Amino acid sequence: MYNSIDVPLFITIEDNALLKVKKILKRSNIFINNPMIVTDKGVSSTFADVVRKELKIKKDRMIYVSNNTDDEVSRVIACARKLKVDFVIGIGGGLALDISKLTSYRYGSYFISIPTLPSHDGIASPVASINVSGTRMSLNASMPVGIIIDIEVIKKAPVRFIYSGIMDLMSNLSAIKDWQLAYEKGYEVRYNGFARALAYSSAENIINFDDSDVYSEDLLRVLLNGLVLSGIAMEIAGSSRPASGAEHNFSHAYDSLYPQNFLLHGEKVGVGHLLISYFRDKGEYKKIIECYKRYGILESLRKVKLDKEKVLNAFEHARTIRKERYSILNEIKLTERQIERAVSEVFKKIS
Ligand SMILES: [Zn+2]
Repeated sequence: MYNSIDVPLFITIEDNALLKVKKILKRSNIFINNPMIVTDKGVSSTFADVVRKELKIKKDRMIYVSNNTDDEVSRVIACARKLKVDFVIGIGGGLALDISKLTSYRYGSYFISIPTLPSHDGIASPVASINVSGTRMSLNASMPVGIIIDIEVIKKAPVRFIYSGIMDLMSNLSAIKDWQLAYEKGYEVRYNGFARALAYSSAENIINFDDSDVYSEDLLRVLLNGLVLSGIAMEIAGSSRPASGAEHNFSHAYDSLYPQNFLLHGEKVGVGHLLISYFRDKGEYKKIIECYKRYGILESLRKVKLDKEKVLNAFEHARTIRKERYSILNEIKLTERQIERAVSEVFKKIS
């Protein structure tokens, strides 16, 4: 069986990369004629302006996005069409990258990813999280032809965003177990050992990293490489399976019940991972707790003041959503009492 796989042509993670974008593109044999920059209206726009000046791109080719709705995607696609764009350069956190990759996919241009936060594995994945008529959906999108990461920019990220990336990456351990389970039970026809290996080893690398300073350059490189490899694992698998299982169901359930929440993606996934591993594998549960403790993640989760009632409701709801994504939640029958006990145990660890 032949599977077409889109892998980035280059990945650059270096100091002051934004000031060297022109050089990086040249040495990667990328020649751009009609670029368009997509960024948000926050801090990332400052970084986007550096890239714009470096590549001598006119101001009217810089598009600012403010929400991740399908209307916003349509607006950006119309801009790309009008400007006859050949490359969309997405610069920002989740929002700008999601809109850029979906615009590239639907309009038919190339996509370059310049993430400014290390908070999720969408920096190089073929999936965009978009609000379609009020419902958050994961839609097929373009893989980037290249990824440029400025380590100085990443170092400016608030610690919560680094923790979010660590939790999203660690959750691969849970996701690959659900993927394998679904495959063995006949609910998934595709299972790819190579994608599994990429997802697994990038999670293990961050868990076993011998340092607790999350701002150390070595750790950030392990994290960023891991997040990129997770995205590539999804492309190889042909789905987000290697990086999204029952713990992501919990996160989606939380968002659908409480759409106005201010928790980061990785924080919801991290709590989901604790709960799922509590039921599935106590060894993994202990391993995550120890790792969260070492990095200061438990302390950070305490500060965001999680609501126990909401966590309980989201866990209950997680069992009823994304039915097509077979996971441990379909496999085990849990009583309300068992769930209550698990949530209490996790809250005890956090507080
Ligand atoms: Zn995720």
